[in-house]
Amino acid sequence: MDILLSGTFGAREREAWRQTLAAVFPSGRWLDDAQAKATPSSVRAAVVANPAPGALQGLPALGLIQSLWAGVEGLLADPTLPPGVPLARMVDPRMNAAMAETALWAVLSLQRDFFTYADQQRQRVWRQHPQRRADETRVRVLGLGQMGRAVALALQRQGFDVAGWAATPRALPQGLAGYFGDAALPEVLAQADILVNLLPLTPATRGLLCAARFDALPPGAALVNLARGAHVVDADLLAALDAGRLRHAVLDVFASEPLPPAHAYWTHPRVTVLPHVAAATDPRSAAEVVATNLQALADGRPLAHRVDRVRGY
Ligand code: NAP
Repeated sequence: MDILLSGTFGAREREAWRQTLAAVFPSGRWLDDAQAKATPSSVRAAVVANPAPGALQGLPALGLIQSLWAGVEGLLADPTLPPGVPLARMVDPRMNAAMAETALWAVLSLQRDFFTYADQQRQRVWRQHPQRRADETRVRVLGLGQMGRAVALALQRQGFDVAGWAATPRALPQGLAGYFGDAALPEVLAQADILVNLLPLTPATRGLLCAARFDALPPGAALVNLARGAHVVDADLLAALDAGRLRHAVLDVFASEPLPPAHAYWTHPRVTVLPHVAAATDPRSAAEVVATNLQALADGRPLAHRVDRVRGY
């Protein structure tokens, strides 16, 4: 099977991906953009990581576009993305586990004031703060998909008071409390001592975390954004932090990445910045996910992890 491997990676990173993918799907012939353009009618699948606009055009036999990344808002925003070709995103239990680790670290650090103590150490300040209990710390998780569910369950196992918010009403595993739909959001926000964002970036969620939503949180709440930077209205978040409405924000993702050197987040005393590392794609496990979908395509079986292009996730 001829497969286009296309993305904004450097030559060494691309070659590492090609070797890892070839090892788990040896029947594939892995083409770069130029090779695919030379034999367009042979290309059956494209494995992509932020491909250049137009890279997927003019491939008449294309039966699968498989993203190496979990978020596909960049692909969906590309007007040259061929319509009608199944688009699958990366869904990997190892990424979910990594996301749960990051969320646990952030929530534990906020619950127990460890960010404050790190700051105090830099200033040689010996000051003890009241110790909060996990079961009295209400964590509300926005988004209960692959990542949100893993995070909510890990926090629940750690003893936090956890509930989540999603679009479609349903029963959740392990007694997890759920709220569904736009009408339920104010109630969720009003309970959130710590708000963890794991929504996909869609027209409905872009800019969702704005002044009105921060005002709806309990005074002194904290935000953990591990999803996408454009969910947050940066000026509103900075205003809420400066006013003391929010006590801290842990931010892994930003509207512009890398975060520009002059951005106020870098030096804000109530902001912890991570360089988009909450849950990186692990090539070893991700390659297995890709190979399973390529084999399904080859066998004519249903493809997994299909993106609903209308919903945007
Ligand atoms: P997912 O499986 O598609 O789950 C999305 C969840 O959000 C679903 O529960 C969905 O509800 C809910 N949702 C979507 N639109 C909604 C709306 N308008 N109102 C209420 N709920 C809504 O996504 P995922 O794989 O968990 O990824 C979550 C986020 O993490 C994405 O933004 C992704 O880009 C990001 N991410 C970040 C990193 C990192 O390193 N920082 C790594 C991987 C992923 P339903 O279940 O009812 O459909």
